[in-house]
Amino acid sequence: MPRYQGARLSAQLNGHKVRVVCIRCKLRRQYDGTALVSRVGPGVSLPDLLTRLAVGLGCDLNISPTPNGIRCALHYEELGAGPEGQR
Ligand SMILES: [Zn+2]
Repeated sequence: MPRYQGARLSAQLNGHKVRVVCIRCKLRRQYDGTALVSRVGPGVSLPDLLTRLAVGLGCDLNISPTPNGIRCALHYEELGAGPEGQR
């Protein structure tokens, strides 16, 4: 069975909305999954993509050294198949 991190990005995101939320930076963004994959390429893992999005959004705390444990809290919010079933 493929592991979560090893799964193909394109298979997970194509046709889905990708929502990311950061409670520290107080931002919330929604992307078109298919457009994201075409932008970053299908070989990028979900954690890698999250880091790239964080950089693009100015959430640089996500990749900065964290001497006091404060990190950017950017994360995925219900990736794809949410309970609402919206398409
Ligand atoms: Zn952030």
